[in-house]
Amino acid sequence: MGKTINARDRGSTMHKCNVCKPLPFDVQKGRKKGNGQKSLFLVEGIFMERHCLFCNKPIEGRSDKKFCDDYCRSSYNYNKNAGHAPLVRKIVSILKKNRKIIKELNQGTSGTTKVSREELLAKGFDFDYYTNIYHTRAGDAYFFCFEMGYLKLDNEKILLVVKDNHPLQERET
Ligand SMILES: [Zn+2]
Repeated sequence: MGKTINARDRGSTMHKCNVCKPLPFDVQKGRKKGNGQKSLFLVEGIFMERHCLFCNKPIEGRSDKKFCDDYCRSSYNYNKNAGHAPLVRKIVSILKKNRKIIKELNQGTSGTTKVSREELLAKGFDFDYYTNIYHTRAGDAYFFCFEMGYLKLDNEKILLVVKDNHPLQERET
């Protein structure tokens, strides 16, 4: 990051900006006119004009400002996050649906309800998505969608379980 221009910063007279076309810029002249001075800062001996990351207009004010105002800041951040958000939402909705299906079918005590793989698929269960796997010492692998899980048995049967006292679950006092 550069620093703001003061009276001692002379010498470099070339305005080199990644955004603008290079323009000759006389620091002394600029200072007298009070023109553009605030939007310039010094990087490794080169005066840079700063531009808003969202609308690309020159920025005036503090040397660490990246946006004109709150509107540009929030618009920039919204667009930045919009790219991957739909994918994340889609995966989370699959996981939530899986959880809901297990919860609905698992009416008895945890580990006593068996359903068929077909039954889960018919309800829209997606076996490709789960939040974590619990491996037992016996070599079994329980797949979980949040706290709702299952164990694949023989003959396409699925045993449904609920993880009580989940380590991530906040204790109620
Ligand atoms: Zn802006």
